[in-house]
Amino acid sequence: MPDREAVIDLRSDTVTKPCAGMLAAMAEARVGDDQYGEDIETNLLQDEVAQLLGKERALWLPSGTMANQVAMKTTTQPGDDVIVAKQSHAVWHETGGSAANAGVQFSEIGEQGWFIVDAFDAAIKPKNHHIFPPTTMVQVEQTHNRCGGTLFPPEVAQEICQLAKERNIFSYMDGARLWNAAVASGQTVADLAAPFDAVMVSFSKGLGAPGGSMLVGDNDFIERAVRFRRMFGGAMRQTGYYAATARFALSHNMARLTDDHANAKALAARLAECPHLTLNPDSVQTNIVVFELTTEAIRAGELVRAAKAHGVLINALGRNTVRLVTHKDVSRADCEHAADQIIKILSHQPIPNAA
Ligand SMILES: *Cc1c(COP(=O)(O)O)cnc(C)c1O
Repeated sequence: MPDREAVIDLRSDTVTKPCAGMLAAMAEARVGDDQYGEDIETNLLQDEVAQLLGKERALWLPSGTMANQVAMKTTTQPGDDVIVAKQSHAVWHETGGSAANAGVQFSEIGEQGWFIVDAFDAAIKPKNHHIFPPTTMVQVEQTHNRCGGTLFPPEVAQEICQLAKERNIFSYMDGARLWNAAVASGQTVADLAAPFDAVMVSFSKGLGAPGGSMLVGDNDFIERAVRFRRMFGGAMRQTGYYAATARFALSHNMARLTDDHANAKALAARLAECPHLTLNPDSVQTNIVVFELTTEAIRAGELVRAAKAHGVLINALGRNTVRLVTHKDVSRADCEHAADQIIKILSHQPIPNAA
């Protein structure tokens, strides 16, 4: 049994629960049928987010995965090539949706969740070629989930979008955690979004809303996306109850993301002292900590189960790879306690390379 009453849940920043203020905002939401464009709260949120990101229009979607899928369906044809960073959400976490829904193939490039413009240039397959699949979309994941919440360097993203424009390739940002990227980089979300044709943002991650994402782009893109949202089953009715939580989250939970980032750094600093794993605390830029186990004696999945027995929930990303995510419902003390529990479990393992 856990030696503390409450479980510390570091599996994801999606596990947060609405606070009393958010629930009150939900209860007071002014709603209508969103498919008739009559949901007041959703319309307000769409306008606010479009303005916040400096784009023409925004469109409510139930999840980030659906938003990514709708964007791809809207801007590519079956057989097209989409360039992404290795370990991207689109490749690993959408159950093959891009192949099933849009019928595209991926070219995965770069390291640590990002790539330079030369690597992008080299990976572009020309259109109207009798052999190559045409590259019609490039995706940037900001921040990068599986690579540990890392920032895609904004100046590099700008170069990539510039080249994409010259080659008539749609530039798309999977910005599920764009909010964290803005806080960590000191740039505005509008600055980070500016070079891209379209951006996806989520309210259900660090912002702490119970659900919802948005596609943000020009009028023409959003107009076409509306059809595929319906086709994919994501057109809803009184979405204002969700939209109200997102509006609350934007005004109350943005600034405090710095706490999550500081907690992730503290968690990483403590974990890095453990000889059974590799983790560079300086690589932690936002709210995600990813480490590799160096001991052969325990696999990531086994560590996850052992930590659970100690009241700490974490995720295995691979055989030896573990992910922890900080959020508004865990404190600094929770993070330090979680690190101690993990170190305690690992300390029962033999030291690697010990004589
Ligand atoms: C969480 C996430 C999404 C969307 O996830 P949903 O759970 O479908 O809302 C998309 N991209 C990235 C990088 C994510 O981390």
